[in-house]
Amino acid sequence: MSESTPLWVAEERQALLAAIVDSSEDAIVSKTLEGIITSWNRAATTLFGYQESEATGKHISLIIPEDRLHEEDFIIHEIRNGRRIQHFQTIRRAKSGKEIPLSLAISPIKNGEGIVTGASKIARDISRQKEAAEKQGMLAAIVNNSDDAIVSKTLDGIITSWNNAAALMFGYKESEAIGRHISLIIPQERLAEEDYIIGEIKKGNSVSHFETIRVTRNGDFIPISLTVSPILNEEKTIIGASKIARDISEKIAAHNELEQLYQQVKSLSDKKDEFIAMTTHELKTPVTSLRGFLQLLQIHTDGGERNRLFVERSIKQVDKLTMLINDLVEFSKLQAGKLGMHFETFDLRLLIEECLDLYATNSNHSLKLYYSGSMEVSADRLRIEQVVDNLVSNAIKYSPQGGNVEIVLCGKSSSVEVQIKDEGIGISPEVLDKLFSQFFRAVEPGFNIPGLGMGLYITKEIIERHGGTINVESTPGKGSAFSFVLPRAMLPPIV
Ligand code: ADP
Repeated sequence: MSESTPLWVAEERQALLAAIVDSSEDAIVSKTLEGIITSWNRAATTLFGYQESEATGKHISLIIPEDRLHEEDFIIHEIRNGRRIQHFQTIRRAKSGKEIPLSLAISPIKNGEGIVTGASKIARDISRQKEAAEKQGMLAAIVNNSDDAIVSKTLDGIITSWNNAAALMFGYKESEAIGRHISLIIPQERLAEEDYIIGEIKKGNSVSHFETIRVTRNGDFIPISLTVSPILNEEKTIIGASKIARDISEKIAAHNELEQLYQQVKSLSDKKDEFIAMTTHELKTPVTSLRGFLQLLQIHTDGGERNRLFVERSIKQVDKLTMLINDLVEFSKLQAGKLGMHFETFDLRLLIEECLDLYATNSNHSLKLYYSGSMEVSADRLRIEQVVDNLVSNAIKYSPQGGNVEIVLCGKSSSVEVQIKDEGIGISPEVLDKLFSQFFRAVEPGFNIPGLGMGLYITKEIIERHGGTINVESTPGKGSAFSFVLPRAMLPPIV
């Protein structure tokens, strides 16, 4: 201040400066060359948590962490020599103990004679900038360490960033790619894709898992899966697009291998089905004539009771064989898609009664039928007979001699329900969901019960081809309940 300046002007100026300091957003602190705090503005209180009265008169080490005390020697050395320190990034400690990253600007304070008597510090909290820079650094590291190529471009297709994986995948270094048009890696015949992608981006849409082909610097084509998203600026305006490209060569190779494997398995499976179809056909004829001859023998046998018993037993065994062959015949028809369906309207209750009559004469189980409502259905009579026969014969087969089997019929408005309950060996809950698979048997090896594990598979197929459903509930040692629901109206056959 010059000596000619009137006192009131000088006072006014000082007041103005004080007001500026007081209202500053940055912490402004002054100290002597010995480090004693001489002034402390409002922002310093906010930043460090000490009131002006708590700070002034104290040593500046009040806010310097121990491991940074040496910085003060350097600062004072510079200030004594009349030098300013700009953008000095460091850490100071608040009253709460919290460490605050700061950018300091420190200037010497000179007296009237130009001698340095102290220092003024302006401290700016840079926590936010630091966090943002750290976040940016982290994102940059993620992008750079990604195995996927990550590329950004303007809406005109000019490449603006290119990560390490992009360099590896396409063979161009970052410096060679940035500034070039994205068509650098697009095969000629696929250039139109770029118009589509940019069109979507301009509408604010992302393009996900877009499988396409790109070309490398060597002219190699690589299959990639692209995900492209819009890049927005702070005003939320779309300014470009970021692309993530994943090399899917391995996936495609694996897919091709799988396809080949599938074809091999399918051809083997077709051969197996052909073989079953052929052998069952060949088996059926001799077994049928064998039964015929045995029946003749049963009528004409004159060898007494003993011979009649042998013939009877032989017929029973042939019947078991026929049952197994029939299962195989049905199975091969199903596999070949040749299970024809002939729909007609009939009373399911009568059909079940006929079936039960047959079993009543051939087994010593107690068979009881309960019903309510009409059981008229439109279905394939022979196939439904097969279903009932399978379920009733299983209920008998898997129950002790003389056991109870109950059949409950319930006619509803648009469907009919049939439940077949037994008090037999039951089925363990772990295998219930496998029961309807081909060749699956749940019987323990100790139980010598014949079967191929095909009946329920065929049963389920037939029910489902009628648009119905089948279910089972069972408790091991207590019994099982199989129930199926058939739609009453004839649905178009599901072939
Ligand atoms: P299988 O010719 O073996 O009887 P199914 O396909 O008809 O073939 O039945 C599959 C398996 O389900 C049978 O092997 C048996 O373990 C079990 N199973 C079927 N019905 C019953 C039942 N009523 N009680 C107990 N187990 C049953």
